[in-house]
Amino acid sequence: MNVVAPFTLYDAAGIERVSAQMLAPMARRIDDERHYAEDVMRAYGAAGAYATHLGGVQGGEADLGTAILAMARTSEECLSTGFCVWCQDTLGWYIASSGNDFLKTEILPRVARGEALGGTGMSNPMKAMGEIEPMRLKGERVDGGYRIRGVLPWVSNLVEDGYFGTMFHVAEEGSDSPRRVMAIVHAGWEGIRLKLDHDFVAMGGTATCNVQFRDVFVPDAYVLADPAPAFVRRIRPGFTLLQCGMALGIARKCVELMRQVEGPLGHVNRYLEKQPADIEAALDSLTAEVMELAKTPYDESDAFYLRVLRARLAGSELAVEAAHWAQLHCGARGYVSHGAAQRRLREAYFVAIVTPATKHLRKLIAELEG
Ligand SMILES: Cc1cc2nc3c(=O)[nH]c(=O)nc-3n(C[C@H](O)[C@H](O)[C@H](O)COP(=O)(O)OP(=O)(O)OC[C@H]3O[C@@H](n4cnc5c(N)ncnc54)[C@H](O)[C@@H]3O)c2cc1C
Repeated sequence: MNVVAPFTLYDAAGIERVSAQMLAPMARRIDDERHYAEDVMRAYGAAGAYATHLGGVQGGEADLGTAILAMARTSEECLSTGFCVWCQDTLGWYIASSGNDFLKTEILPRVARGEALGGTGMSNPMKAMGEIEPMRLKGERVDGGYRIRGVLPWVSNLVEDGYFGTMFHVAEEGSDSPRRVMAIVHAGWEGIRLKLDHDFVAMGGTATCNVQFRDVFVPDAYVLADPAPAFVRRIRPGFTLLQCGMALGIARKCVELMRQVEGPLGHVNRYLEKQPADIEAALDSLTAEVMELAKTPYDESDAFYLRVLRARLAGSELAVEAAHWAQLHCGARGYVSHGAAQRRLREAYFVAIVTPATKHLRKLIAELEG
């Protein structure tokens, strides 16, 4: 089957235009009103932001580095939207990394162009695989597919005609351990109920939904991997590495915020322990490591995954640290209700708590280090 998809070409000037002219002026509204910037998400798609890492499907290389830098540019302006870019990238990553030609030809090109939006409901399955919490979705084999019940507490970047990748358990006869199956689900299928969940201190503009499954039929054509464990091993470095785009972007903006107050406050800010050049040096070194790792996202070795986990953890720590120092450098002008620094501080903690959260990363690293 021909799976060469007519994806949009990457347009760096277009990404810059969307970031500076559409997203930046809207960032405050996204934060205040929990507004989901759907038009911005679609404009990024038209500029090719969601396609470069899918190159493997088109017979080329999977270029994660460009995808990460595009996400970083978004996250410089607004982390809600930066996270939505990650959600969209991850949806495409699942499909492109699978052996499912139907999804690659019918759904992936629309995801790559931002015409079909969506994300991932993999936090709970990842925590279930790490024995942190029980799996919330249960499936049963039926003619032509699976019937699913359960609830996913949060799936972001989700609109009513959107898609998301997730995993469910299927009881195996004669075995204590259930089979894990990964599939793409359409939010409009019968039995699915979406409820917007906005009750967060930041990140309200992410179209985050609580997704209820009441006997939802998932056809075999939408299955990504059955059983899923080998597939999870294939996609997890890319999944985790892509998240670094959020960390790099927010840290970059925090350096800029610190520099903006050097004129009026530099004479006293110079006594602070961390200066913009310190954060920038850490940022440059992390960017170099992430770009190196981004060249071989399908390396399935434990040694590579360990490096990815360490980079992802360094990203969480840098995002929070950069936002902390930006707040101290900006002082009261960053602490007012519309101050950029306090927004970045609230957003930065999300990088550290989204799955894999800091504690989960440290658990995985400890296990791999033996
Ligand atoms: C804005 C936002 C967007 C998200 N988007 C996605 C997404 O697109 N896809 C996805 O899979 N996950 C998403 N998540 C979930 C996220 O990835 C993490 O799983 C979540 O932040 C908790 O991770 P943790 O490991 O810190 O778990 P912890 O917070 O340590 O523990 C999680 C457990 O606590 C329970 N819990 C949650 N809230 C409460 C509460 N108020 N009171 C008591 N118990 C509670 C949960 O049921 C869960 O079992 C999102 C979370 C947020 C905040």
